[in-house]
Amino acid sequence: MSGKDFDVARVRADFPILHQEVRGRPLVYLDSAATTQKPQAVIDALVRYYTHDNANVHRGVHALSERSTAAYEGARERIRRFINARDTKEIIFVRGCTEAVNLVAQSFGRSKVGPGDEVLITAMEHHSNIVPWQMLCDKVGATLKMVPVDERGDLRLEQLDALLTERTRILAVTHVSNALGTVNPVKEIVKRAHAKGVPVLLDGAQALQHFRVDVQDLDCDFYALSGHKAFGPTGIGVLYGKASVLESMPPWQGGGDMILTVTMEKTVYNRLPYRFEAGTPDISGAVGLAAALDYIDSVGLDAIAAHDRDLLEYGAQALEAIPGLKLLGRGRERSGVLSFIMEDVHAHDVGTILDREGVAIRAGHHCAQPLLSCFGVAATVRASLAMYNTREDIDALVRGLHKVREVFA
Ligand code: PLP
Repeated sequence: MSGKDFDVARVRADFPILHQEVRGRPLVYLDSAATTQKPQAVIDALVRYYTHDNANVHRGVHALSERSTAAYEGARERIRRFINARDTKEIIFVRGCTEAVNLVAQSFGRSKVGPGDEVLITAMEHHSNIVPWQMLCDKVGATLKMVPVDERGDLRLEQLDALLTERTRILAVTHVSNALGTVNPVKEIVKRAHAKGVPVLLDGAQALQHFRVDVQDLDCDFYALSGHKAFGPTGIGVLYGKASVLESMPPWQGGGDMILTVTMEKTVYNRLPYRFEAGTPDISGAVGLAAALDYIDSVGLDAIAAHDRDLLEYGAQALEAIPGLKLLGRGRERSGVLSFIMEDVHAHDVGTILDREGVAIRAGHHCAQPLLSCFGVAATVRASLAMYNTREDIDALVRGLHKVREVFA
């Protein structure tokens, strides 16, 4: 299905929040990289869960607990299938992508990274995939290294092999840049890291909602997912990890489901995946995320990806025609994000004027300060796309940007 054949009106009808006016104008939501809106199917799943099934999971013997446990474990299986993991024990529920990276940095990192070792990331990472590694390196006396980016917004992969040394203990890379939209050739990156015996964590916060992710095909050791960026609720995310790697890692947080038996002397830890899920989990969040994945599949990821490409192309052309506007990030492959600066206008002023027109974008460093400093800017304007956006949304953005020009003429 080409982008133009995509039935975006049908998709929009499923997202109730989009049908409102903001500041007297129809809402144009172009901030989906920060968080996506939720289809009615997800909202209904949450209401249904709390109306009929709510109870704590795993330990109960009564009917509601059995139902909530089935719903929670069913969600785990739904996610396994969506990303093609081998086994549900490889699917760990966490709060979001940030927590997934922190889990790996703390558990894998503290047990496998020592003084003088190296952790390799890239200059393109979100702060969530930088700071946990900085904290680890500070703690254990390791060194954090970065793969640089070029002026187009692609990783300088010609430097990768030299940066992967015999001291490198892990490589952490984003699948898609939240600030530029660059899609990294992660399968190739994983292959090159593995050739040197280095495990790889991929940050998939901006990928899952745009195209098919197959963790077995990518062969990554970890894949971090964010529920709220993929039309699911806030507060839920997933860490995928290869069972063999997860088995070798110590527990991270203590309490609740991560335990089999406790005496005052000793705790016996639970098996995977529960060993990494301390305390009552976000049960409704998992149920909502499963409903979001059902919804994505009902629309079709190929159709979503084609629609995404069409909008990106249309948007890039329309924005480049605006005098004084410069698009950042013209990488070989891109997804979901149009990031730009306007001559003589601060990104926050652009954001404020667009908001008055009902157009929601994001202005700032997008939690990717090292990346923006590579481009010599402190902030950009970022319009980010999801399956419910239209060419008319881009037209409204362009009209708003002409207003910005008039104000600052
Ligand atoms: N990684 C990337 C690339 C992101 O864009 C974000 C959020 O913007 C995160 C990580 C953090 O995700 P979460 O909000 O699920 O913690």
